[in-house]
Amino acid sequence: MPFKGSCLCGAVAYEVDAVEDPVMHCHCATCRKAHAAAHGTVALVKPGNFRWLRGEDRLTAYESSPGKVRRFCPVCGSHVVASKEGVDAVLLRVATLDDDPGNRPAMHIWTAHDVPWLAEEGLERHREFSPK
Ligand SMILES: [Zn+2]
Ligand SMILES: [Zn+2]
Repeated sequence: MPFKGSCLCGAVAYEVDAVEDPVMHCHCATCRKAHAAAHGTVALVKPGNFRWLRGEDRLTAYESSPGKVRRFCPVCGSHVVASKEGVDAVLLRVATLDDDPGNRPAMHIWTAHDVPWLAEEGLERHREFSPK
């Protein structure tokens, strides 16, 4: 049973048969900007295990470092996948999955790029928007 994923607006959708371990939280500066978040979550998917369902032709691309191409939905801006020269896999932006692939994050990488305001541990947690 494949796992489905999509961008925020739904123009782009895909399915994967399996997500490879390890699932990683990447703190690198280009992920931070690309995801507009303190870190992105990424895992490899074997090319044969990845299929576009719709919107592949609508994706826009940005080469964020030499050989590393990030693909985005041009409507909503979701960063969906990336590719890297020499890596025979789809670099899946795991947070765009709509289904739970079962894998769990195993590590944080590129923490050398952390920004001073990134201090996730010990903060208040709210199931929905902050009541304050
Ligand atoms: Zn979209
Ligand atoms: Zn990164």
